[in-house]
Amino acid sequence: LEPAYSFMIRTRTPGGVVTPAQWLKLDTVATRFAERGLRITTRQAFQFHGVIKTELKPTMQAISAALIDTLAACGDVNRNVAVAANPLLSQAHAAVHAQAAALSEHLLPNTRAYYEIWLDEERVAGSGSEDEPVYGPTYLPRKFKIGFAIPPYNDVDVFAQDLGFIAILDDDGALAGYNVSVGGGMGATHGDPETYPRLGDVIGFVSPDQVIAVGEAVVTAQRDFGNRNVRKRARLKYTIDDHGLDWFKAEVERRAGFSLLPARAFSFVHNGDRFGWIEGDEGLAHLTLRTVAGRIWDHEGILHLSGLREIARVLDEAANAAEFRLTPNQNLVIAGVPADLRTRIDALATQYGLDGYRTASPLQRNALACVALPTCGLAMAEAERYLPELTGKVQALLDGHGLHDAPIHLRISGCPNGCSRPYLGEIALVGKAPGRYNLMLGADHRGQRLNTLYRENIAEAQILAELDPLFARYAGERLTDEGFGDFLVRTAVIAPPRPPISLHLR
Ligand code: SF4
Repeated sequence: LEPAYSFMIRTRTPGGVVTPAQWLKLDTVATRFAERGLRITTRQAFQFHGVIKTELKPTMQAISAALIDTLAACGDVNRNVAVAANPLLSQAHAAVHAQAAALSEHLLPNTRAYYEIWLDEERVAGSGSEDEPVYGPTYLPRKFKIGFAIPPYNDVDVFAQDLGFIAILDDDGALAGYNVSVGGGMGATHGDPETYPRLGDVIGFVSPDQVIAVGEAVVTAQRDFGNRNVRKRARLKYTIDDHGLDWFKAEVERRAGFSLLPARAFSFVHNGDRFGWIEGDEGLAHLTLRTVAGRIWDHEGILHLSGLREIARVLDEAANAAEFRLTPNQNLVIAGVPADLRTRIDALATQYGLDGYRTASPLQRNALACVALPTCGLAMAEAERYLPELTGKVQALLDGHGLHDAPIHLRISGCPNGCSRPYLGEIALVGKAPGRYNLMLGADHRGQRLNTLYRENIAEAQILAELDPLFARYAGERLTDEGFGDFLVRTAVIAPPRPPISLHLR
């Protein structure tokens, strides 16, 4: 006998795109092998929680049967590549998604161990097929994250990524290339000033056919120069700060074999999602649904897993019309819905209560939470389970000041690792201990300014007491269309830690 160990399994789904047929298979995996349904992560992956040890292999095989793998979704490698879920520009999205998927494939480890262990692939001794030209024998010093954004929306929080690609479109909507951003990262350690969240710096522009080369150059530069002695300083952001941005850019250009062109102008308007139906290209429509903290399950009268199963069946029977896109903000886009299916999909969304976006306030719609307790072993405080209660109480304060529709971005993490990208929240809680959080304030809602520690290690009553007078001032003193974070900076309630990204263009 041994303890009933259980595991979390995370998919590699570049850009979070799955077909209706794949959705149905993943639903079966969640129903049969996992606890608490499907969960959408902030990197557009699915997580299956509570898979017991003896069922790991059949679970992995069932995921593989959906033509999805979990290879390099964890570990010191390039993780799931995030891509804007922007449903407005279908052609651009398709081009950028294809490029991101190709880069994801290129940066996969060559090891066959995954296939041998989980999928019963026969081991071929001495085949020599496990040479790792990108990762070498020691892989990367730490995890590595890549995101592709399509302005004017920054839903991937591109400056939170180790390596970011900001799509630049021509006037006719064709993809001209990408601005390249390096050195973003959210993780930090409480009380250790040697660790910190950092926004990426834009170092230049590349054409679409240069993406693989520049991606590999950045990854291998980090492989060779990243800090392997102090693990908590092993992310690319510290490599850049230790060696200098100009040095790093030159190293990338040397490895890529070409110089980056000057970065092109871009502008982000926000880093959240847009909800409800949106008309896209070619007569197709896109429906963005809110999922609270990314959790999709049937629980206590909620039937979201069942509802999405029905929607997937309808789409699957229509020859795989449309696709599901997980958003980097833990929401779900049903993208590319033909006109003749729209009414039916809408009715199912309503029938199964998936249309919560209609009644939720902007604060509630945009809020993010990491998993935290009870699932994450690193959690110091609640996040996902606390989110609905927290947003309800913060919303009540806003309502009291006539701010019901204020589109404030609130994020909560159970620890400073920052899986919900809390340092880019206009209001953020970062867990310190059960029921206690650091209150961070003042990010913009474009993903271009970090927030700042406002109060340390406080409990709910004090958090609400601190926010209430700030909301009162915001209600009375804000400028037209001024975001809460921008207001706090303009009125010097907080001082931003770093100049905005636009000043880092080079
Ligand atoms: Fe990530 Fe920390 Fe949240 Fe765990 S508790 S999911 S490590 S941020």
